[in-house]
Amino acid sequence: MKDKEYNALRRKIDHWAVRWKEELLPGWEIIFHYEREPLQNIEGNLLERSSGYTHFLWEYRSASISFNLLLMAERTDRQNENTVIHELCHCLVAELVTGDERPDGEAHMERVVTDIVTSLNWVRDAAIKGKLPKPLPSKSEQ
Ligand SMILES: [Zn+2]
Repeated sequence: MKDKEYNALRRKIDHWAVRWKEELLPGWEIIFHYEREPLQNIEGNLLERSSGYTHFLWEYRSASISFNLLLMAERTDRQNENTVIHELCHCLVAELVTGDERPDGEAHMERVVTDIVTSLNWVRDAAIKGKLPKPLPSKSEQ
């Protein structure tokens, strides 16, 4: 990956990362890393097929999120933005699974995070089309 291509993709990913971080996790301190090689998890294992990886310290509302731009260069903007949202959503649910002794804890987290991203996309698409459902009237308006 040439520097020009890397820098253009990095700017795009960083734009989404900063924007979505402010919307979803305004109280968190998150550092974003942009790699050109396979990501490693906190145990040092290579994540050859992962375009994003989040390491969080939920008790301090702090996280480090890494993106593999080599993999992301092969994907659409929408897929890459969803990856950004997906990694940020890991922070939202981190507290629920950290320290979980169940072997399927990670799988549950992945499923919940994926559904949250789908829900956020539905809201965004509805807002763009002006088709968000109207809120129910409050008691004072009835
Ligand atoms: Zn995930």
